[in-house]
Parts: sequence; structure tokens; C-alpha cells
Amino acid sequence: MNRGLFETRFDALAQRRGADHQLVAQLQAYLMTREDNGRIYPYAVAPKLNIHLDQLMPELLHGVNAGIFDLHWDIRCPHCGRLVSDYRHLEEASQSEYCQMCAVNYDVDFAANVEVTFSMNDDIYDDDAFGDVERPEGVQMLTGLDMMHYPAFRNIFRDEVLSRREQLKITAVTLLFTDITGSTQMYEKLGDTVAYNIVRDHFDILFSEIESHNGVIIKTIGDAVMASFRSNEEAVRCILNGMGRFEEYNQERDLDHQVRIKIGLHRGPAILVTLNERLDYFGSTVNKAARIQGFAQSDQILLSQEVYETAGVQQVIESENKMYIRPMSLDLKGLEGQHGVYALSRNEPEPAVSQGLFSQLRARLGLG
Ligand SMILES: [Zn+2]
Repeated sequence: MNRGLFETRFDALAQRRGADHQLVAQLQAYLMTREDNGRIYPYAVAPKLNIHLDQLMPELLHGVNAGIFDLHWDIRCPHCGRLVSDYRHLEEASQSEYCQMCAVNYDVDFAANVEVTFSMNDDIYDDDAFGDVERPEGVQMLTGLDMMHYPAFRNIFRDEVLSRREQLKITAVTLLFTDITGSTQMYEKLGDTVAYNIVRDHFDILFSEIESHNGVIIKTIGDAVMASFRSNEEAVRCILNGMGRFEEYNQERDLDHQVRIKIGLHRGPAILVTLNERLDYFGSTVNKAARIQGFAQSDQILLSQEVYETAGVQQVIESENKMYIRPMSLDLKGLEGQHGVYALSRNEPEPAVSQGLFSQLRARLGLG
């Protein structure tokens, strides 16, 4: 190991703005105790340093930038778990891989077969000293999908995208779609400057809630936002918090200057692609999430059955002190059959059928 380079680069990491000095020193001391350049598994290191993974990840990622670590996209076999390929950049990954041990071809799942690991940078440790690539038993895997949802990753590795030819499947991801009610009228009525400021405030609120709940903003389409989350709980907690903040925002304003949004959430399998130089999703889960959002009324959150029927989600909803829940069945354009959806709102829903929806049952939760 080149100790001089190791120390110089760690000094640089500690000097960056916003660095956690104590953590950087701890990490440096820990790495000194390692005997070879085996893989560094974030889920194994965090407990050793007695910190949460969310604290460790930014330092590891900035450490890649500082030339301390190399980042690996390890492709594992879904059958035997062995390392099949190791890419330094996501752009090198391909949608299908072959495991020689199992003698099978398989489609790579970004949420199951792509593991993110680190090793000491090649300049610090030469390849001859290369160590173990097997994850210690009992250590959780940090998946590609996990990595994509770290704010530090998105800030530092904005250019890490898939090759335009490739698409990776994802077992499941939670998608959020939002849109503002009547923004066209708002621009007409209030004028561009005032309306734009309101729309920008709305983006600030949504973006900060999405970021702080480990979500990724995939894109904006006009005033609409598409974001993804690893779990239903985080997505629902994010949007309930967001709704609370819009309520506060609106309280201080007259009706014309208020923001009302319509929200849809759905979870299912998707395809990860690169579109306009950014990671994006494709597939029927995306279409369904967007269609569900299209049915939402102002100040209403529509959750697909797949999202609502998660134990954690119901706990999050029950912890809100006033929330009406109405199960519905929707006929979604372009998608077969009837789709179970739950409408959440703080206002008591009208009993009348509206927008072609029909209500089957109405339940009021969290009385108090
Ligand atoms: Zn295998």
C-alpha cells in the first residue's frame, strides 16, 4: 500500500466542505487495519464504525472522487450468488449476463443482482494485492437501486448512467407522480411572474421532501413531477409531509395564491433505462402510476392497492391525526381490468360519484 498517497488523499477528503472530520478519521483508521484490498461492503463497515449507513455513504462516495476508493458495480449470479462481472462504470453493464459456474444466462435485475462495493484505489493498492470479493455472511447487499437513491450519488455521479443500448429490470420500485391543479388558469389570472414564483415554491417543497425521504426526482414534465422511492413507506411518508407543508403554505395565502396538488403512487416492476442522459424508468408500472395520478382530485393522494396494502404504509397513515380513506376501483385507460385504488384526503370525501369513479366503501380512520 502506498501510505503517503493514502494519507494525502485522506487529508483532501477531510478538507472538503461539509466533511464529517471525526468520521473521516475513523474511516481512515479502520482502513489501516485491513490486511488486503478486499471489497469494502458499506453494510459491513457502518456497524464497525458504529454509525448509520446514511452517514457513511457520502464519505465513501466523496472518497471515490478524492481517489481513495474505486467504485464497483458487481454483477452477481441470481442462482449461486457469485461475482460474474465487475464494472467500474454503470455504462459498461449489460442487460444479460452468463454465469460459468451455473452455465446459465440471466437478465440482470438492478434491485437484486447489481451490488455496489468499494475497494482501495488502484494507485494506493496495486492489483496484485487484490483480495476477497465474497460478501461476508449476514452482511446486507447494497444494490444498484439503493445506490441510485443516495443524494450524494446523484450529486457526485450525475454522469453514471446506463449505456443507451441497455435496459436493466427492477423487481420493484415505488413511483410517485404529482401535478398542480389549474396551473394554466393560475398563469392567466396572476400573470407569469407571480404564478411562476408559486410554482417554484411548490417545486422547492416537493423536492426537499423527496430528497429528505430518500427519493429521487426522475424528471419534471411541465409542473408535474415524477420521483422514485425504494419503499412504499418512505414514499407515503414523503407525500403526507409534503401535503402538510402545502397546507401551511396555503394558510398564509388567499385562495388565488394557493397550491393544490394531485398525487398518485404505485409500486411494481420496471425497466431502468437512460433517457436524455439521465436514468429513467419504463414499463407498465410507470404508465399505471401516471394514470392513477390522472384520476386524483385536488389535495388527494391516490395509492394503488400494491402501495396501500403494505403494513408499514397503514401505520404511517394511521399516525396522521385526520385522514379519510376511500377504497375505489378504477378503469385505467390502456390497462386491462379494474384497478383497486385508495384515496386519501384530509377533507371528508363527497358521497357522490365523480369523474367516473365509484366508491364502494368509506372508512374514517384516526378519529381524534
Ligand atoms: Zn451462478
